[in-house]
Amino acid sequence: MNKEGLVLVISGPSGVGKGTVVKELLKSQDEFAVSVSATTRNPREGEQHGKDYFFLKKDEFVDLINNDKVLEYATYCDNYYGTPRDYVEQTIQTGKNIILEIEVQGALQVIKSCPNAVSIFIMPQTLAVLQDRLTGRGTETNDVIAKRMHTAIGEIKQATKYNYVVVNDSLDDCVNDIKQIIKAEKLRTIRMENFVKEVLSNV
Ligand code: ADP
Ligand code: 5GP
Repeated sequence: MNKEGLVLVISGPSGVGKGTVVKELLKSQDEFAVSVSATTRNPREGEQHGKDYFFLKKDEFVDLINNDKVLEYATYCDNYYGTPRDYVEQTIQTGKNIILEIEVQGALQVIKSCPNAVSIFIMPQTLAVLQDRLTGRGTETNDVIAKRMHTAIGEIKQATKYNYVVVNDSLDDCVNDIKQIIKAEKLRTIRMENFVKEVLSNV
């Protein structure tokens, strides 16, 4: 069987519940690792450097780009965000699935450069629910929430460029849908070719 882990791209508008869903996935199965992104945004209360993000100054981030150290990067609401390349490559070699929880511009770069990546767009059931979740989280000012809601509409317009669209209405259903997608993706013929060859190897 193919021993390489999957690259799992998870996007969706800010506040839809991506972080919550990823936490649930990490709890229930030990075959996942999550990529820790670099960003130039300020840490939120409780966020830790190296765990939640690598919090960098703008010139440090530009150095990563210039040295080809990021798999993808994007500017989102005036800050840089990017995926360190090495960790992703090392993780899939160990057989673990790596989760990239990233916004749409970066996701489209990964979809293009890694055609075997599995891409999932998480949708809110309505825009009103999305706004309530962003407000309820209480981590952003009203100005930032307005900006993120504006960005959300542009992001949702790109949802059909992903392999799958999953609605986060009930958290349990959303997490189960993603687990089923992964199960099916692992059995895709492209990932089973080596196994088929192995079975036939002594014929
Ligand atoms: P994101 O990572 O997409 O920005 P979060 O995971 O921070 O979003 O979730 C935003 C808010 O919505 C949080 O307060 C979280 O507890 C809540 N939330 C997430 N999923 C659900 C759900 N299925 N039903 C109700 N609230 C949810
Ligand atoms: P937040 O500021 O809420 O942590 O993240 C804002 C947005 O940036 C979210 O949509 C999140 O998924 C996205 N994001 C986080 N890390 C990365 C990354 O490495 N690359 C890209 N392109 N987007 C990211």
